[in-house]
Amino acid sequence: MGIRTGQQYLDDLDTASRDLWIDGEPVTGRITEHPAFRRISRSVAHLYDMQHDPKLQAEMTYQSPSTGDLVGLSFLQPNTKADLTRRRTMMQHWAGYAHGMMGRAPDYLNSELMAIAAAAPFFATEDSRYADNVRHYYEYVREHDLCLTHTLILPQANRGVSAAQQADPYLAARVVDKTPEGVVIRGARMLATLPLADEILVFPSTVIRNTEEDRPYAFAFALPLSTPGLRLVCRETFDYGRSHFDHPLGSRFEEMDAVVVFHDVLVPWDRIFVLEDGERCNALYAETDATVHMTHQVVVKNMAKAEFILGVVSLIVDTIGIEQFQHVQEKVAEVIIALETMKAFLIASEANAKVNRWGIMTPDWTPLNVARNTFPKVYPRLVEIVQQLAAGGLMAIPSENDFKNQDLRPDIDRFFQARNTGAFERTRLFRLAWDAAVSAFGNRQVLYERFFFGDPVRMAGALYHSYDKEGAKQRIRDFLEETSDPLAR
Ligand SMILES: Cc1cc2nc3c(=O)[nH]c(=O)nc-3n(C[C@H](O)[C@H](O)[C@H](O)COP(=O)(O)OP(=O)(O)OC[C@H]3O[C@@H](n4cnc5c(N)ncnc54)[C@H](O)[C@@H]3O)c2cc1C
Repeated sequence: MGIRTGQQYLDDLDTASRDLWIDGEPVTGRITEHPAFRRISRSVAHLYDMQHDPKLQAEMTYQSPSTGDLVGLSFLQPNTKADLTRRRTMMQHWAGYAHGMMGRAPDYLNSELMAIAAAAPFFATEDSRYADNVRHYYEYVREHDLCLTHTLILPQANRGVSAAQQADPYLAARVVDKTPEGVVIRGARMLATLPLADEILVFPSTVIRNTEEDRPYAFAFALPLSTPGLRLVCRETFDYGRSHFDHPLGSRFEEMDAVVVFHDVLVPWDRIFVLEDGERCNALYAETDATVHMTHQVVVKNMAKAEFILGVVSLIVDTIGIEQFQHVQEKVAEVIIALETMKAFLIASEANAKVNRWGIMTPDWTPLNVARNTFPKVYPRLVEIVQQLAAGGLMAIPSENDFKNQDLRPDIDRFFQARNTGAFERTRLFRLAWDAAVSAFGNRQVLYERFFFGDPVRMAGALYHSYDKEGAKQRIRDFLEETSDPLAR
């Protein structure tokens, strides 16, 4: 089949009904017409349509090795550095469309799937079918151009103990039964962004206690979100149905997040990749290089996001005439540094890429690892800079209805203008800045960047432990050796 159109994605969503709850109500009828999901589903559909744009198609697709159909380029298993560049170019198109505001653009998890499929032998334990399952699933998703979300973390009830030690042993999703048809899962996972994906990867979090009692919680599998018993409990929507003028970002890119509940969900055997194996779960990301390829995509997204903030603050500076102030220049420079730092990490990771043991050209992990430790701190600062530079102007933002009112309009045109722009143009820009830096949508983006890749404290710990510090230590030892003990002289 190959690449889907946006309309096919929307039709598939409406056909595959799911147990989706929002604000105390189940979503019934066409999900793509529900007020909370209508516009984000069209934004995802737009991503799919981009693959059919004659100007973009060559950069966004390639020929499937199994069918010859055109498939999405984020499924490409890179063998050369040129392949990595092709993957990056494709990702830039999708990240650019949403200015980095869609964390679950399908290339994020396509990258994971691509990497784990290449590393399929890793999944072959005493049961080699798990390796076949991974390969087949990758091909299935690639050929049907499906959109995935994932869920990794157990509910936030008691972080002091493991999944097995929670007061309720059925709080965290776990194996409760095995049948000839598959494995039965009961419990919950804390979060999945974009409950409008087609399928969900239920994968391990980074560390699982490898004890007998924790084995039922150690697995990796994939399911359609329409699977019976699988329930999605959404937070409230930040798409308030306002116009693109009023809420330029929230009206387009509100992906939604949902808690995932498994009411005795049957996972067919051919969808199981790891089962009751804590050791394999803990090694999965590192051994397959899935995190590396996911981070490659994330840094592309981060570049788009930093460039977006640079564009917003630069226009604000021009609009209200604050470019002559040194601290303003310093703050804009901070945004430039963030953008260029992300770019440099990306280029360095590609320049030093190597073929991994699964035959896949893999970006250098160190610059990507540093990038993923940097951005959770940088993005909140970028948003703070928008607030510091736009200041009270972020509150002087009349709505579209204000502009429509003929009695009010003369005042708005007069008192909301800026030095080089009329009130409409100034407000349009400032509403965009508000949606990035003040609104619920904007604050959720900050929270997302702080946490979506994991707890930054523990990510820093992982960097600390994995970074080879020996060369640096030796350099200091050598230097210290130049000064000998005075008694020994
Ligand atoms: C907007 C958003 C979207 C997300 N989307 C997804 C998604 O699509 N799929 C998905 O799987 N997850 C998603 N997540 C969840 C994300 O993976 C987690 O937020 C992240 O892993 C941190 O876990 P937590 O939120 O449970 O925080 P917790 O682990 O509960 O941490 C809470 C606090 O306690 C501290 N803490 C807890 N345990 C320890 C420890 N052992 N050592 C040191 N400090 C500790 C943390 O540092 C933190 O300050 C999303 C999160 C957000 C905010």
